[in-house]
Amino acid sequence: MRILVVVGTRPEAIKMLPLVLELKKYSQFEVLVCHSGQHEDMCRGIFEFFGIEPDVKFSVMRKGRSLWELSQKLQESFNSLFETEKFDLILVHGDTTTAFCASLAAFYRGIKIAHVEAGLRTYKKEPFPEEFNRVAIDNMASVHFPPTEECVKNLAKEGIFHTQAVGNTVIDSFAYTLDEKYTSPIFENARNRKIILITTHRRENLGEKMKNALLGIRDILENRDDIYAVFPMHPNPAIRNIAREVFANTDNIELCEPLPVYDFHNLLSRAFAVITDSGGIQEEAAYLGVPVFLLRDETERGEAVSEGNVYLVGTKREAVTQAFFQIMGDDTNLLSMRHKSTVFGDGTTSEKIAKKALVNGEK
Ligand code: UDP
Repeated sequence: MRILVVVGTRPEAIKMLPLVLELKKYSQFEVLVCHSGQHEDMCRGIFEFFGIEPDVKFSVMRKGRSLWELSQKLQESFNSLFETEKFDLILVHGDTTTAFCASLAAFYRGIKIAHVEAGLRTYKKEPFPEEFNRVAIDNMASVHFPPTEECVKNLAKEGIFHTQAVGNTVIDSFAYTLDEKYTSPIFENARNRKIILITTHRRENLGEKMKNALLGIRDILENRDDIYAVFPMHPNPAIRNIAREVFANTDNIELCEPLPVYDFHNLLSRAFAVITDSGGIQEEAAYLGVPVFLLRDETERGEAVSEGNVYLVGTKREAVTQAFFQIMGDDTNLLSMRHKSTVFGDGTTSEKIAKKALVNGEK
């Protein structure tokens, strides 16, 4: 079976490369990896970390390129690839523009699509454009790997039956990244203060919403000198400008470049809490038992809210501050958020996908 694994963004690389390593163990598969270049800079180190060189590489990003232009370029690139190279199956992940365009190009040519991280839904227009992408990909795919029972149910509502929850490959990546001996200059900078990680990147939060949320975080930091925040800023200048403006005079925060996944996972596993609008970090933090304050009004990872790990905070300045102090002031709340959950997997997802589903054909 000739398989193409498609990767475009940082989270896709972190979640798909452990699966690539697993698939390469089976002689039945010829595995090729395509990197679309959607997050060219942020993915380079991840490919190196996992020791994988993409077999096919596109370069689709240009400064100021719109979503439309990006999707056009991606569709053209995948279409040309499928014109010259034959694949029995493509494996796409999640909800990115890369995954959507690869799927569309494959779908039009009748190439079988397997969707990893299938069935996540908010049933709203947001997150934009991710909700549209994942619904469309699930519709085009003929093999689905939903991470949780909730996702299995979501797929069934759309007429996609007989799928099985396999967990999320992001938990598999911890086998490569987590290191008991990890050290970092960040620990020296923190000087025994509690470390809080911050990340923001959602398109729909850009502008006022993001500014308000960051002002809420600034209020927390100004009130708590026992906290040291680390904010690896997404490369998008619109995000960096807001962060630099809001935290210009805050001294218990470190604004830095995106961290290599090895550093981010090890810091996260030792963090007091994380404040984020990320999807994948909710899954990682739930497994590691790190409280998540989520700068969104909804989540497609409702399991993490039910399990107690994720607090849906939104982006209003006062709401961010209040949520933080409410949890931090109550040991019972804090304890329930520190609960370690395997709802997103136990580290065996890649094996389940490769062996049970693709080799043995089990549903
Ligand atoms: N991450 C990282 N370095 C950072 C921040 C995040 O390696 O400085 C990783 C994080 O561990 C997670 C992924 O990036 O696996 C999340 O990516 P992002 O929040 O950009 O996307 P989403 O998960 O929301 O699609």
